[in-house]
Amino acid sequence: MTHEPQQSAANPEPQAAPHPAFEAAYRAAQKSVNEGGIPIGAALARDGVVIASGHNERVQNGDPIAHGEMSALRAAGRQRWSWMISGAWT
Ligand SMILES: [Zn+2]
Repeated sequence: MTHEPQQSAANPEPQAAPHPAFEAAYRAAQKSVNEGGIPIGAALARDGVVIASGHNERVQNGDPIAHGEMSALRAAGRQRWSWMISGAWT
């Protein structure tokens, strides 16, 4: 018999704040839903800072490759310093 610690719903363990990129991706997903699309968002971050975000637009634009990450990369590419994007993650 094991004695796993049990987590009480009334006293949950504190959780770390979500990374700003996850919050930006979530907001982007909500935007897609508000447009009648599917709930997928993406964000591009570097050194903990969100530098772009985007959402899936497959339904809205009838574009099968309009994924959220593609939209985020397009948004990043429109920025003036886009030629120096490196070390970023989605
Ligand atoms: Zn995708």
